[in-house]
Amino acid sequence: MSDTLTIALSKGRLFKETLPLLAYVGITPTDDPDTSRKLILDTNHADVKLVIIRAADVPTYVEYGAADIGVAGKDVLMEHGGDGLYEPLDLKIARCRMMVAGKPEAADHARRMRIATKYVDITRRYYAAQGVQVDIIKLYGSMELAPLVGLADRIVDLVDTGNTLKANGLQPLELIADISARLIVNKAAMKMKHVQIKKLIALLSAAVAGNK
Ligand code: AMP
Repeated sequence: MSDTLTIALSKGRLFKETLPLLAYVGITPTDDPDTSRKLILDTNHADVKLVIIRAADVPTYVEYGAADIGVAGKDVLMEHGGDGLYEPLDLKIARCRMMVAGKPEAADHARRMRIATKYVDITRRYYAAQGVQVDIIKLYGSMELAPLVGLADRIVDLVDTGNTLKANGLQPLELIADISARLIVNKAAMKMKHVQIKKLIALLSAAVAGNK
């Protein structure tokens, strides 16, 4: 008999792009998270459950062992600080870039730049590494609006096609990091459920290779 394996996923784009990888390794949910209100989804395997949570909560669930493994964006992992977790596999889905963006005209260097972002720690580390002092303004969404209304000089946000920036008269200025979704594993689970998890990682690696 094998232990139950709990996988933490977030709804939306990451879930949609993770499903084919899970299907490749033979795991399919028996409930649809878009229509179901259940937060714990059963799968075609009695010993595999999916927990559906906010993207930013996935590392926390996995770090504390409430889920054995999870799928989280590198952006979320960088902001969370990934020390309490293993990150064994780049799933190469939900790819985008973490960028500094702003209006094309040069910022006024007479005062500290104000940077609007929901990625406060990433932004602080990025500018600290350059020895540039900035004021960081925490926002929860629609970062692109901040430079338009004079709330901030620049933003730090995810950029995919660049269409959102363009539509708002903003330009990508500096690349902070390339982003993709990663498989993360609880450290204790990696030891206790070694055989099951190693097998899953091997199968998912093959799925990623076949996904290109
Ligand atoms: P785009 O207009 O294609 O450059 O997409 C930019 C918008 O989509 C921004 O609001 C981003 O926060 C969001 N976005 C882009 N890529 C991702 C991703 N991989 N995961 C989550 N949000 C994303």
